[in-house]
Amino acid sequence: MLERKKIYLCLAHMSEAGLEQKYIQEAFDTNWVVPLGPNVNGFEKDLEDFVNNCQLSTVNCQLDKRVVALSSGTAAVHLSLIACGVGSGDEVIVQSFTFCASSHPITYLGATPVFVDSEKDSWNIDPELMETAIKDRIAKTGKKPKAIVPVALYGMPYDIDRIMEIANRYDIPVIEDAAEGFGSRWNGQVLGTFGQYGVLSFNGNKMITTSGGGALVCPDKEAWQKIMWLATQAREAYPYYQHEAIGYNYRMSNICAGIGRGQMTIVNDHINHHKHVFELYKELLKDVKGIEVHGNPDERYDANFWLNTITIDPEIRIKGQENAYKTVVQGAVGGAAGVVHATDSAHTDCEPNANVEALRVFLDQAGIEARPLWKPMHKQPVYKDAPAYVNGVSESLFKVGMCLPSGPYVSDEDVKYIVEKIKEAII
Ligand SMILES: *Cc1c(COP(=O)(O)O)cnc(C)c1O
Repeated sequence: MLERKKIYLCLAHMSEAGLEQKYIQEAFDTNWVVPLGPNVNGFEKDLEDFVNNCQLSTVNCQLDKRVVALSSGTAAVHLSLIACGVGSGDEVIVQSFTFCASSHPITYLGATPVFVDSEKDSWNIDPELMETAIKDRIAKTGKKPKAIVPVALYGMPYDIDRIMEIANRYDIPVIEDAAEGFGSRWNGQVLGTFGQYGVLSFNGNKMITTSGGGALVCPDKEAWQKIMWLATQAREAYPYYQHEAIGYNYRMSNICAGIGRGQMTIVNDHINHHKHVFELYKELLKDVKGIEVHGNPDERYDANFWLNTITIDPEIRIKGQENAYKTVVQGAVGGAAGVVHATDSAHTDCEPNANVEALRVFLDQAGIEARPLWKPMHKQPVYKDAPAYVNGVSESLFKVGMCLPSGPYVSDEDVKYIVEKIKEAII
């Protein structure tokens, strides 16, 4: 039998024309090997053109957002919080069902994340529970939360209409974490352009990559200038280094931005491919009892399907289920540069069901990378003292959910193979 290539969740994929390399070569040829330069400017322009373009909206079809390219999406979260005035002792509302980069920068600032659970359909922040949290924090602390961070989990939009309506009523700025939702749209408008700020990520596994990198979508030139200033060590206008505020070294490298410029030529192909893979999973899994593919709740939602996700009925039995969690896992999720904290137990007090773990192992043995859903932040030991407004949705999804390969390298034939293996795994 021919040996199959391992199928990964979402691998970086370069343009056929090799434009990434051309832009990098240009950077070397012109000696712009620094965290600024023509590629950074060009990439920012490409990003602005992309996010400012509305496809379906009947009014205001061209937006006027400005974009700053940064060294990571985490840096974008960090700087947007600072720009919203978040500091020591403040509170920030953040979706609990997310990757840690949405909430960690809140703690960098000495502030406290207030976690809010999700709604069933979108899996993203529940607007009603969010308002409950706002009211309760005001009652308990006498202060409003300083910002609200909804997250486009796996690329699925959040109900931004209701979120903005509530946020505006309380006059609290919204920072959209669209790191996983680059190119996802709500009513035809690109995510990241509704709130005060919008976070994008170009890490190696995201919709497009700059190897590592991110960007912040800013509302206007003034905000853009402030973010730019904060991202370059907050230098004052003197012939020598004069510092009147604390800044950061967060600007994107001109080399990385060269990759980004190449990637922007194929971003729509990538998004279309992820959507196509979703349609295939949906079609091929529609008759498999107990497995459900997560799709757009209604026509306002237009997910990029960065990662396709399924939920697995707890009643379904999977081959090898009796051995799930019997061995301690050797590496951290996603590799984490080979650096892991060793653990001595295979269990935590909140983990995916045994049939989900068994399916993960079964697929892994078939050369398919699958991953549990992100564990909600309010269930993370590091956040055990943070306030949380919970309805059980994210915790129960975490127990039954799984991410499947979705990236540009995943072919139709791969999807068929993955679905075959899922069927084979079910007893
Ligand atoms: C990836 C990610 C980020 C941050 O991105 P980096 O570029 O890896 O720092 C932020 N939020 C979410 C939800 C993400 O998935």
